[in-house]
Amino acid sequence: MTDAPVRSSNPARPGDLVVEVPATSAAEVAAAADAARAAQQEWAAQPPTARATALSAAADAVAAASEELTALMVREVGKPLVEARGEAARAVAILRYYAQQVLDPDGETYPAPGDTLLMARRRPRGVAGLITPWNFPFAIPLWKAAPALAFGNAVLLKPAPESTGCALRLAELLGDVLPDGLLAVVPGGAETGQAVVGQADVVSFTGSVAAGAKVREAAGAVPVQCEMGGQNASVVLPDADVDGTAAVLAGAAMGYAGQKCTATSRVVVVDDGHGFTERFADAFATAVTKLGTGAPEEDGVTVGPVISERARDAVLAAAREAEGSGGRVLTGGSAPQREGWFVEPTLVAGVDPDARVAQEEVFGPFAAVLGVQDADEAVRVANGVRYGLAAAVFTRDLGHALNLADRLDAGLVRVNAATSGVDFYAPFGGVKESSYGPREQGKAARDLYTQVHTVTISGGAA
Ligand code: NAD
Repeated sequence: MTDAPVRSSNPARPGDLVVEVPATSAAEVAAAADAARAAQQEWAAQPPTARATALSAAADAVAAASEELTALMVREVGKPLVEARGEAARAVAILRYYAQQVLDPDGETYPAPGDTLLMARRRPRGVAGLITPWNFPFAIPLWKAAPALAFGNAVLLKPAPESTGCALRLAELLGDVLPDGLLAVVPGGAETGQAVVGQADVVSFTGSVAAGAKVREAAGAVPVQCEMGGQNASVVLPDADVDGTAAVLAGAAMGYAGQKCTATSRVVVVDDGHGFTERFADAFATAVTKLGTGAPEEDGVTVGPVISERARDAVLAAAREAEGSGGRVLTGGSAPQREGWFVEPTLVAGVDPDARVAQEEVFGPFAAVLGVQDADEAVRVANGVRYGLAAAVFTRDLGHALNLADRLDAGLVRVNAATSGVDFYAPFGGVKESSYGPREQGKAARDLYTQVHTVTISGGAA
């Protein structure tokens, strides 16, 4: 079975069709995998300096096209201009970083008798099957593809349907500087994704928990990494700077309309017995209303549309559900009368930490304020979800910061900083149902895209 044709359209102007292409069939994926496998053999055999030069050329090509790529992101996935510019710059930086890593040591030697060399070397795995979401349409494909290529693999990239135009443009740019067949973009949906998993020697997936579970199952014995959703908590202690923290959290929760896996979705406020929770909730709601909303191409906008009608309706439904379960809407909760998939940034309070809207990912501009009595309860509430991607603590007390950071079940913990935000040169990943397999990005990427060969060379008589 092949997926229906892939269509992506501008979420701010849904009548603006960005791209429509047939989904890649299983047979076409197999052909692309064959070509990739042949290209990989030659690529891995090249001198490392040649691979580094090719990846640097890829960085140059992406840098030269950065304005065009920025505009394409704004149009196809509704990313606000300032964030789209940042992502285009990050795409270049990722390629430059991994171009250099090609020349890093590729293993270790171990103690051995004087006439023997014992070493463990890293070898590429073969064809890397990459399955990516739409929300970072250049950064995520590249933070997987760049290390895969750097360590001598070929790449089959199955982008999300919603960001197909970005992926196809990336394939053109990289295709100009990389050997034929080494990197192929195969547009499609779940079926194409499954076909990619079936052909790959190593799989890296980013997306929802539900799709990640299917990818993991299909991968079987093939090494697989899944980066999935979050329900990220930020804990605010009563000594935190109210207005500064509220402003940071407004951006963390609502920036890019909350469509980041690391967005803050729950703000756990520790009360001081003198009304701190209410004071903080008011300041937070005020900070959210000050955010620039509107068309993503406009300067100053940080909250554009969500990706689809379904995504908009999910935010509206979450607001109604919060009200229905005894909560109240502090700000937002409806959709403006305008073309496109816009929805007001929505904050709710008074819901139970176990309510669905505080347990599951809404993946839109929606966050819940949860009041608690002390730091221990804050930790219990923050950790009381099936996810564990990112968390944050806001306090002026270093001891509290370190203590809470240590107790939060999350792969990424930030102190006095937004949960959203990724450093491509540091290990990235979560715990519990947010992640499966080794970390990605930074030096950690090598563990997935290589296998260790332990080689003993005996100089003695055979
Ligand atoms: P999604 O799970 O719907 O799709 C992700 C990718 O998987 C797409 O390419 C999709 O076509 C493919 N896919 C879907 N079902 C599949 C299947 N059965 N087999 C193989 N491939 C399949 O997610 P999305 O809507 O594109 O992105 C939003 C989700 O991604 C959110 O849950 C978000 O938290 C998560 N996300 C996580 C990270 C992270 O690093 N942890 C980063 C960004 C987004």
